[in-house]
Amino acid sequence: MKNFKNFLAAFDVVMVFVLAGLWAEKNMLQMVSSYMEREGENVPAMQTEQIQKKQGDTEEPIKIQEDTNYFELEDKKIAITFDDGPNLTYTPGLLQGLRERNVKATFFVIGKNAAEHPELIEEMKKDGHLIGNHTYNHIQLNDSNREVFKEELKKNSETIRNITGEDTLYVRPPYGSWDKDFEKELNMFPVLWDIDPRDWCSSDAGKVVETVLSQAEENSIILLHDQYDTSIAAAFAIIDKLKEEGYQFVTVDEILFD
Ligand SMILES: [Zn+2]
Repeated sequence: MKNFKNFLAAFDVVMVFVLAGLWAEKNMLQMVSSYMEREGENVPAMQTEQIQKKQGDTEEPIKIQEDTNYFELEDKKIAITFDDGPNLTYTPGLLQGLRERNVKATFFVIGKNAAEHPELIEEMKKDGHLIGNHTYNHIQLNDSNREVFKEELKKNSETIRNITGEDTLYVRPPYGSWDKDFEKELNMFPVLWDIDPRDWCSSDAGKVVETVLSQAEENSIILLHDQYDTSIAAAFAIIDKLKEEGYQFVTVDEILFD
């Protein structure tokens, strides 16, 4: 009988611990669910566990790094670039559309076009776009024209500097042909691209849009040309759609050096 009483006493002590444990867990879950309501988010089970662990340590707002889909505060960056301009027929409308959308773009201009339309270069600069170098006459670097190519880059830079008062640091080498030594020799950096919808050989703006949207991801650099009405129409559709998807359009320097 005495043994049985001892057993009951021990059982009571165990029950007190069990109940205390259940109470603590219930409180913890309430804290988690009130956190979830505040955030207005659907928190998946895996993250609920992380929140439970963290909630014990601190009253500070919780930041979870592991899954940016749920707690991302900043927009995803993406850059749209236009080569071969400025073009009197297409560039003014493009600049107007970018202004209306509050979008910053990067223009890799041909030096001789810039010299013909300095007012468009000034407008780009005033609107906060980045202006880059695309050689003076749109020549392709090859094995035998290294020095000529360098002169082309310098002449373009000089033209832009005369208009904007600033040096151009970024080069889009025509057809992507580049010599790494130029980076030191000229203090210029090549900017290639990862999305090329080949807008110059398509008369279907919808196709151009579709290609870009299917490949777009954070930090993508999109290549277009302000030389065709279909490219301008496509650019606006791409921008509107990607903004809806949470992308923020930035100039290429923000993607390369951030
Ligand atoms: Zn080009």
